[in-house]
Amino acid sequence: MSDYYDVIVIGAGPAGYHAAIRASQLGLNTACVDKWVDASGAGVLGGTCLNVGCIPSKALLDISHKYKQAREDFSAIGITTQKVDIDIATMQKNKREVVKGLTRGVAGLLKANGVEVFTATAELVAGRKVKMLSSDGQMKEISAANVILATGSVPVDIPPCPMDGESVIDSEGALELTAVPARLGVIGAGVIGLELGSVWSRLGSEVVVLEALDEFLPSADRQLSKEAAKQFKKQGLDIRLATRVTATRVEDDGVVVSYTDTDSDHELLVDKVIVAVGRKPFTEGVLSAESGVQLDERGFIHVNDLCATDAPGIFAVGDVVRGPMLAHKGMEEGIMVAERIAGEKPLVNYDCVPSVIYTHPEVAWVGQSEEQLKADGVGYKSGVFPMAASGRALASKETAGLIKVLADENSDQILGVHIMAAHASELISEAVIAMEFGATAEDLGLTMFAHPSLSEGLHEAALAVSGRAIHISNRKRRT
Ligand code: NAD
Repeated sequence: MSDYYDVIVIGAGPAGYHAAIRASQLGLNTACVDKWVDASGAGVLGGTCLNVGCIPSKALLDISHKYKQAREDFSAIGITTQKVDIDIATMQKNKREVVKGLTRGVAGLLKANGVEVFTATAELVAGRKVKMLSSDGQMKEISAANVILATGSVPVDIPPCPMDGESVIDSEGALELTAVPARLGVIGAGVIGLELGSVWSRLGSEVVVLEALDEFLPSADRQLSKEAAKQFKKQGLDIRLATRVTATRVEDDGVVVSYTDTDSDHELLVDKVIVAVGRKPFTEGVLSAESGVQLDERGFIHVNDLCATDAPGIFAVGDVVRGPMLAHKGMEEGIMVAERIAGEKPLVNYDCVPSVIYTHPEVAWVGQSEEQLKADGVGYKSGVFPMAASGRALASKETAGLIKVLADENSDQILGVHIMAAHASELISEAVIAMEFGATAEDLGLTMFAHPSLSEGLHEAALAVSGRAIHISNRKRRT
């Protein structure tokens, strides 16, 4: 096999493996290098998302949700159970099996599509050459006409809270706990803090979330973040805003977290602390000085709108470049770059990237929030539908939350959709499709939705934009 390829992809997370498969499908001779190995030293594909991110967290979120429902909600709907218990070892085993199945699936897909996979640590050097060091110390060099960097991101750590992998842990450690901590501290009320805080709270932990900002979920539409704060509080998450963690101290009876808020200094004693204060792009050891690839001031690989770096023939996609750190955004970038290398002309629509927080209810949005529209001086109309008015939501006791559609005041084009509801991660795709097609609120209003379904909430919210929703009051007086 030649050491020269049409495309080398560094990183086999969602962005990288999508790029590699698509490139190979288009007839490009493609290699994919990833350094991730399991305990036995065997290569594992799928990156953070499959191994220690999206997939295992969703497994734990689903199991913990079912457990909580069985314990707290079933009796009200006539399902009686014997004592409901959770076996953490079985829960974790199930999670591992899900991860194993999927990572093997990715390996199978790469193979079936003819991608050559290397398990090694790769460094990009001058002339689009890639030096690969495998775990057994073997060195190999390959080169390509095009290189796609997809090296992902790693958790941010903060000096006051040094992680010891035992008491003070990151998101990866929080997915691996073998017992339910009685008291859990979470630093950061972002996506990871809320999802993992929810998992362990449902399983019985008393969870305190310390958030530096004085606003909860500032990137979400404010109506949604207010509703979310209300729901999470009801579920027992103690979210303390405007708190600055100054130290963690491991003692015999737990971890003491020192923090200050607007009033004074505090100490909180917990059994474990999860540090979830964000992620940063991973480029350590990936780029030699001669590679020609530049970083931006925040440490991301500098790319243009088409994911081209400053070096000819070298592209970067996913968490390692600007934009939201979301697997689906990286996947689309990977596909776009592969297709562009093959001579096609696709684009990624960065205005239509859905965001989801997999709490219960789920929180999801796409496009602009009311606050962004106001700040940009865009005139808009709003339609809101409370899930409590949905027949299907009532039938399945999922009445918390709302759906909001924002449309341009003049053109009626949909500018943003914001959902807090059960299955919001599924519902939001309907809004993404509508926005991709440039739909107006009227277009959605004129669309027939199956009854009864949660999706009808989106229909009603779109109708509410022009005061035509049926299941909420928006009666106008005749004059
Ligand atoms: P995040 O940026 O979503 O949230 C981090 C939070 O920590 C912020 O609210 C920030 O203000 C707070 N914070 C920062 N420093 C702090 C400090 N010293 N003390 C207290 N609070 C502090 O980051 P994350 O939750 O760690 O997630 C990382 C990335 O992974 C995000 O980009 C996220 O989008 C992505 N992710 C997405 C999903 C999903 O799509 N469901 C799930 C997990 C992670």
